[in-house]
Amino acid sequence: MSEKQQLVILGATGSIGLNTLDVVARNTQQFSVFALAAGKNAKKMAELCIAHQPRYGVMATQSAAKQLSLYLSNTPCKTQIMHGEQAMSELCGHPEVDAVMSAIVGAAGLLPTLSAVEAGKKVLLANKESLVMSGQLFIDKVKQHKATLLPIDSEHNAIFQCLPYSLQNAQGDQHLQSHGVSKILLTGSGGPFLTRDINTLKDVTIAEAVAHPNWSMGQKISVDSATMMNKGLEFIEAKWLFNCDPSDIDVVIHPQSIIHSMVQYHDGSILAQMGNPDMRTPIAHALAYPERINAGVKPLNFSDISDFSFTKPDFSRYPNLQLAIDACSAGQGATTTVNAANEIAVSAFLNGEIGFTDIYTINAQTLEAATYTNVQSLDEILECDRLARLSASQFITKVTH
Ligand code: NAD
Ligand code: MG
Repeated sequence: MSEKQQLVILGATGSIGLNTLDVVARNTQQFSVFALAAGKNAKKMAELCIAHQPRYGVMATQSAAKQLSLYLSNTPCKTQIMHGEQAMSELCGHPEVDAVMSAIVGAAGLLPTLSAVEAGKKVLLANKESLVMSGQLFIDKVKQHKATLLPIDSEHNAIFQCLPYSLQNAQGDQHLQSHGVSKILLTGSGGPFLTRDINTLKDVTIAEAVAHPNWSMGQKISVDSATMMNKGLEFIEAKWLFNCDPSDIDVVIHPQSIIHSMVQYHDGSILAQMGNPDMRTPIAHALAYPERINAGVKPLNFSDISDFSFTKPDFSRYPNLQLAIDACSAGQGATTTVNAANEIAVSAFLNGEIGFTDIYTINAQTLEAATYTNVQSLDEILECDRLARLSASQFITKVTH
């Protein structure tokens, strides 16, 4: 058997997927691409298959897989083409696979990611939505199947790096306070509308919402960063990854995105992880953990930093952040619901159906109307997700008519 780590990259054609392939290409002596999976972009996938020669290439739909076959038909590329969620899940659990990069956007990533967890793989988690929607179940499965869960979200990767080694891989087992940790300081830039007149937020255009000042990302997470729902989802993600209470986490606005998050200890020490905002850093950290590899990231030059500032979030500017923090305390039904509603609302915003501030209205109305009782098993989670999507879509119809 080869000594190279065999990787599956879910969401290969997206922002995280491409950054992962960039890091892999710099470290081919250590990593090999076993399978790539993506949604519909067959043209991009064909380019990636030719460049990285994975054994398998999986598209979400049969028609996208057919397109991929056509693109590869007159090339020497021997990648075997498959389609569908089941195929992605099976490849994530394949015995030859060492690590799975979970970077599909949204709830679509849940089942393949859980399949990697159930096979006890090293799971590099970018797809925060899967953890937000299934929290306890996800973490219980990580423990039960002895999977290794490594955060890719830059904040969570920073927190992970600042935690004592004994806590880094103790998901759900250890409590932070008993290891000398007093707070997790979750930083966020505040997105593109940190200083914009609040009264004009209703007029925000799609182009304005997806133009993040510091990070280049997919469309959904860019809109989530503008509403700060992203920080809300990350708050819930931190609760599960680091086994802490909502009261252990403070959100800090840090517009320059140089500190990626911090951990405060009882003795007054605060450890921060810093660097230029480039997702290749957390990706390389998780790929090589506990070692370090070259990520191609420009080193931070402190003499270039003219401003280094911190403030509290203004919840009247970012009501979605408050909504997600409240949902985190309310429990799994609320977090599954808010995640699903937000996916529907953001997609409606990106389709030009609703305004920017309607995203909050739809999320709040869906949460308010939700009647879930018990949301623990996978079936209950998927049903809660389905009902919330239905309800959010109905509220959108009311906004648009
Ligand atoms: P993106 O929109 O750029 O890429 C999404 C990928 O998912 C694409 O490859 C797309 O083809 C694939 N996809 C979509 N639906 C699919 C389906 N049904 N089946 C299979 N593949 C499907 O998004 P991104 O910015 O790369 O974000 C991916 C995930 O990583 C999100 O959960 C996001 O929150 C998280 N994340 C991203 C960043 C970032 O800097 N981009 C940072 C932190 C976390
Ligand atoms: Mg993040």
